[in-house]
Amino acid sequence: MKLCPHCRSDLIERNNFYWVKIPIAIILLFIPFGFFICWVPFVISGDYECKNCRRSFTNAKEVDWREFEKMKQS
Ligand SMILES: [Zn+2]
Repeated sequence: MKLCPHCRSDLIERNNFYWVKIPIAIILLFIPFGFFICWVPFVISGDYECKNCRRSFTNAKEVDWREFEKMKQS
């Protein structure tokens, strides 16, 4: 499972930025040979956003659910 590196909350959401990527892809379609690279914005992975502390980050903390149970108890 993935956790926020700032507050260790599991309320994180993937931010895919489709509202940015789709217009970029459309613009690329209009340039010569743009259709060869219009898929590039979709390959770049999105950031994560924490719903608890409202911070965004690229690398979510990957934690095993057993470790997460231990963290909650301590
Ligand atoms: Zn957070």
